[in-house]
Amino acid sequence: MSLSPIERRAEKIRLLLLDVDGVLTDNRLFYGDNGIEYKAFHTRDGHGMVLLQQAGLDIGIITGRTSEVVTRRMADLKVKYVYQGVPDKLPTFEALMEECGLAPEQVAYMGDDILDLPILRRVGLAAMPANGDPTLRHHVHFVSQYPGGQGAVRELCELILKAQGRWEEIMAFYLR
Ligand SMILES: [Mg+2]
Repeated sequence: MSLSPIERRAEKIRLLLLDVDGVLTDNRLFYGDNGIEYKAFHTRDGHGMVLLQQAGLDIGIITGRTSEVVTRRMADLKVKYVYQGVPDKLPTFEALMEECGLAPEQVAYMGDDILDLPILRRVGLAAMPANGDPTLRHHVHFVSQYPGGQGAVRELCELILKAQGRWEEIMAFYLR
């Protein structure tokens, strides 16, 4: 099987980093009268993240905002690296690269807004949801056909798993 240029990028990925708002969510923030902030996550995105981790890859999130619901959802999904309250994401990304000992080619990142550009411009596989800021299209390798919070992350997880030859074993389990 010959790999496409995007699959060759996906083949090398060991760590998937994600923005939260607009990537794992549809960008909306629900403010409750109780002072609590709510977000909605997509369960197929979550399953993709579980499958990716079961295949031995790590996942991390870097988000400018801070909320308990993100802490809980990432704990549910056993996400290894959780960085919240990070308005300037680049120093956190660089520190994480140092900690992981990974090269940028081994990292994928999906973001949806211009504040994600510093990371998108550095990683081996830069991705955005279908409804991300159009400015990002000039700087990413992959535009999901799905909007943020509605399957974009799942599509990226599947792309990586397929490029790494792991998808068939996953489907074999579900087609048993
Ligand atoms: Mg965002």
